[in-house]
Amino acid sequence: MRIAVIGGSAGGLSAALLLARAGHAVTVLEADHLEPAVDVEAAAAAGLRAAAPQIVQPHVLLTTFQEILRERLPDVDARLRSAGAVEATLQSQMPPTLADRSPAPGDERLLLLMTRRQTVDWVLGRAATGEPGVDLRYGVRAEGLLADPGDPPRARGVRTDHGDVAADVVVDASGRRSPLDRWLAAVGGRPTAVSTAECGLAYFGRQYRLRGGARLPAPAATRVVAGLDELTVGIWGGDNATMQLVVAPLAADRRFAPARRDAVFTAVLRTIPLYASWLDVMDPITDVAVMGGLHNTLRRLVVDGRPVVLGLHTVGDAVCTTNPTFGRGLSMTLHGAADLVDVLAAHPDDPGAQALAMDRAVGEHVAPWFADQAVSDAARLAMLRHTVLGAPPPPAPDPARVTFGQIRQVGQVDPAAFRAVWRLMGMIGRPSDAYDDPDLVARVRAALAAGVPPALRQPTRAQLEAALAA
Ligand SMILES: Cc1cc2nc3c(=O)[nH]c(=O)nc-3n(C[C@H](O)[C@H](O)[C@H](O)COP(=O)(O)OP(=O)(O)OC[C@H]3O[C@@H](n4cnc5c(N)ncnc54)[C@H](O)[C@@H]3O)c2cc1C
Repeated sequence: MRIAVIGGSAGGLSAALLLARAGHAVTVLEADHLEPAVDVEAAAAAGLRAAAPQIVQPHVLLTTFQEILRERLPDVDARLRSAGAVEATLQSQMPPTLADRSPAPGDERLLLLMTRRQTVDWVLGRAATGEPGVDLRYGVRAEGLLADPGDPPRARGVRTDHGDVAADVVVDASGRRSPLDRWLAAVGGRPTAVSTAECGLAYFGRQYRLRGGARLPAPAATRVVAGLDELTVGIWGGDNATMQLVVAPLAADRRFAPARRDAVFTAVLRTIPLYASWLDVMDPITDVAVMGGLHNTLRRLVVDGRPVVLGLHTVGDAVCTTNPTFGRGLSMTLHGAADLVDVLAAHPDDPGAQALAMDRAVGEHVAPWFADQAVSDAARLAMLRHTVLGAPPPPAPDPARVTFGQIRQVGQVDPAAFRAVWRLMGMIGRPSDAYDDPDLVARVRAALAAGVPPALRQPTRAQLEAALAA
């Protein structure tokens, strides 16, 4: 088949590689000029771009992404590791408060792959550049669909600012701001069904490099994301001795507006001893980058049992976006690309069957995680709004179930809860495997009843506000 992919970032490039290797002729249309840089550091330096501001924000690659990459694109996995991505074991992520650190069956799946996102895209870009069957067209903006009219319309290609591109299948991998509904309306189609749930955070992120020879507070391949009373903070290891830091307050918390300034960002992190100890051993290699407008969104292309379009599928953030602190986005993206290849192989000549099968895949592989994210974020946001903005206290949690926040809290002291957190973030099985596990529920309740020490020493409000005034 001739396949036109709109967007040449993680979603578009991974879909293009998989589709080309399945025998399709793929054209990737990417509005930005993303010709792969000469090396990984040049790629990092070129990472900041308005169309995809998340590229310079901290990323980590979790279980589902790693497993699909190893199985379906092993050469890309190998290239990523040779480009400097570092694997970290579950044991290396255990907090000091966790007494039982013995290995358990299944730990081999709970690995973290630490890398800057710019490095992931650089590796994918280089792989796609050399791939027979992939025609990469940078600086080409998709502006609409070519389609046979009807209900639903049948996509036949893409209109671009460099002329029309005919295709048997169109893939929308244009990211979180996909204009798909506008394009469908222009060819007489119904809109997709988009569900949204608040994420409510703003991201202030910065990249660093470890000082050679410095004595580190913990292994460099670390990830510590902490939901404090008034904000979320995080550190992620990266490739090539880089580290990534984030300050993520409520988007509505205007006190944090100055955190875009390097000095204020640093001062805020220095109020928390764990992060201060990291700041002592590394130097910034970027300015602070700010990203707002973070939402949980889920798009379905089958509405009321009928596809809204034939011959067009979505991949990546055009399907679903979720709270970045959970690190699920690239797992969903790669899962979607792999599903697309399988669906086209199963139904090569039947666009209606393709649409229904893709929607079933979204229902199985994406929708449960979107729903889980919506519930987790609603609880966390309600608590932050109460503490920070003086909103009414959140309702008491449903005693019939445990929440992600509770499992994460108990994970500080209980090895089963600790592992459940990583399975939930790595998207292993289904969310209900954790929430409906009677043993886990009992352990979480017992630990909460006994009291769990706070994960980190936090700043007082006065300390925080002094840092914000720095
Ligand atoms: C702050 C933040 C942190 C994150 N951290 C993690 C993490 O730790 N782990 C994880 O797994 N996921 C993480 N994610 C999610 C991850 O970044 C996304 O899931 C991923 O970028 C999705 O890739 P994509 O290709 O679908 O979209 P994008 O990366 O947004 O790419 C879309 C591409 O389409 C192009 N484009 C747009 N419109 C057009 C057009 N009309 N014509 C041609 N080209 C077009 C854009 O230029 C862009 O290159 C994070 C997200 C955010 C916001």
